[in-house]
Order: sequence, then structure tokens, then C-alpha cells
Amino acid sequence: MNCFAGIDIGSTAIKVALIDDAEQVLASFLYPTGSQFKRNAEEALTRALEKAGVGSDNLAFSVSTGYGRRIFKNSDHTISEISANAAGASHPDFGAEGVRTVINIGGQDTKIIRLDDMGCVSNFRMNDKCAAGTGRFLDMAAHTLEVDVEELAGLHERAQGDVLAINSTCTVYAESEVISLLADGHQAPEIAAGIHHSIAKRIVNLTRSTGIEETILFDGGPALNAGMVDALEISFSRKIHVAALPQFTTALGAALIAKEEWLEEEA
Ligand code: ADP
Repeated sequence: MNCFAGIDIGSTAIKVALIDDAEQVLASFLYPTGSQFKRNAEEALTRALEKAGVGSDNLAFSVSTGYGRRIFKNSDHTISEISANAAGASHPDFGAEGVRTVINIGGQDTKIIRLDDMGCVSNFRMNDKCAAGTGRFLDMAAHTLEVDVEELAGLHERAQGDVLAINSTCTVYAESEVISLLADGHQAPEIAAGIHHSIAKRIVNLTRSTGIEETILFDGGPALNAGMVDALEISFSRKIHVAALPQFTTALGAALIAKEEWLEEEA
């Protein structure tokens, strides 16, 4: 059996996906990025292989991607996260059939990727200048509300009344705004929902230049947050599909590209 690895070195987490010749997932493994990208990426790959019960001699080809990919020298090839994300999103099991728009929210940036009917990238837009629409913004909100980021969805579900406006364009000011809302007597559910809607509004603005077309797939760690999915569906007035393993779509795409490149080399 051959094993193909996709290693996504993101700003907050390293994601490793291992697939076999039949594109079945052998293992997915997440490890904090930390400050030692190279060492931590090596560790993540070793642990993923252990989890899959696969020896390193079965590792036929590996492709690294993401923010820290240039520092990790041990993969056979590197590709941009846009290409890797598009490959994962277009796969019927890892993404969705007929995806035309990918909304990816990462730890430090947000991307809109438009795909043509062949699944090739036709346009993209990235916001990495401001943390206000990213996972870091959600982490700040969770920290200020004294909950784990996994609990934001439950709070969102309990929100009542009109959506609270969170207008700050910068995480630092948004943190003060959340503290002021708490001081004014607003409750955590309404604030969590307000945060989700403010991020969704930013994403709508980001799609002004790319356009948006169904099928729409949402991936990246914040796609695990059902409150964020709800806010996007309301803002776009459309169904938003969530990837099967949303934090791993880019790593899975890199693993698919690893398989393709290995087949080309073998031919
Ligand atoms: P990157 O690739 O930049 O490291 P990720 O796609 O891994 O980013 O997303 C990281 C973000 O995902 C975190 O900042 C956090 O806000 C969010 N996140 C991670 N796990 C969860 C979870 N279980 N529920 C909700 N949000 C999550």
C-alpha cells in the first residue's frame, strides 16, 4: 500500500492528512504550530504515520502547503494553500460535488476562492491585513466571554432578540467593545451571535470583487462552529455546505496532489 501525505502548516495549527491509493483517509492529525514550524511539522507527520499504523517506507510522496511551508524542507514538493484548498474542496468526499465558491476562515486570514466547472481556481481574494474576520477574532471573543472556542456555537444558538452590532475593525478594539457590551448588561449568547454576524458581514464584503456562486463550501477551523455557519447562511441567504473534516480540507487537497504528482513521476 502507498501512502500520500498532505502537510498544511497553518498559522495556528499544523494539519497532516494521509490517504491511500484509493483516496481513503488513513489518518488526520492536528498539532499546534507553535514557534518551531519545522520541528513541529516533522513531529506532526511522525505522529500521523503512527496513528495510521503506516511505516515511513510506505510514504510514497508528500506535499506541504500553508503559511509555514517554505520552512519545512522534508516534503517532496510544496504548493500554495489556494491550490491545495481548491483540490480538497472539489473532492466529493472531502469537500462537495460541484463547488464553485470556497469560504476559508483560518487562524489569521480569510479567503474566498472561486472555482470553474473543472474545479480550477478562477479567482481568489484574501484578507490577511486585519484579524477581525478570522479565527483569531473568535479566539479573542471566546477568551473575553470566558468560554472555549468550541462553546461559541452553543451560545449563538441561545441568542435572543435583534443581532448586536459589533463594529470594531480591529481585534484589540473589538475586545474593548465586547467588554463594554458585557458592562452594559448584554449576555454572552447575544455577544457571541453578534461576533459571528460581524465576521459574516466582512466575508460578504470580501465577495464583492469575486462574486459568489453555488455550491458554496465553508472550511477551515471556524467551520466547526455551527454559529458561524448559521451567520453565513443568513448573510448570504443561501445554503452553505461544510466540509467533512473542515480543518483538514487543505491538507487533504495537498495529499491528493501528492498522489497525482507521484503517479506522474511513476508514469
Ligand atoms: P490555520 O490553518 O491558520 O492554522 P485553522 O483553519 O486551523 O487555521 O483554524 C484555526 C481556528 O479555528 C482557531 O483560531 C479557532 O478559532 C477555530 N477552531 C479550531 N477548532 C475549533 C472548534 N472545535 N470549534 C470551533 N472553532 C474552532
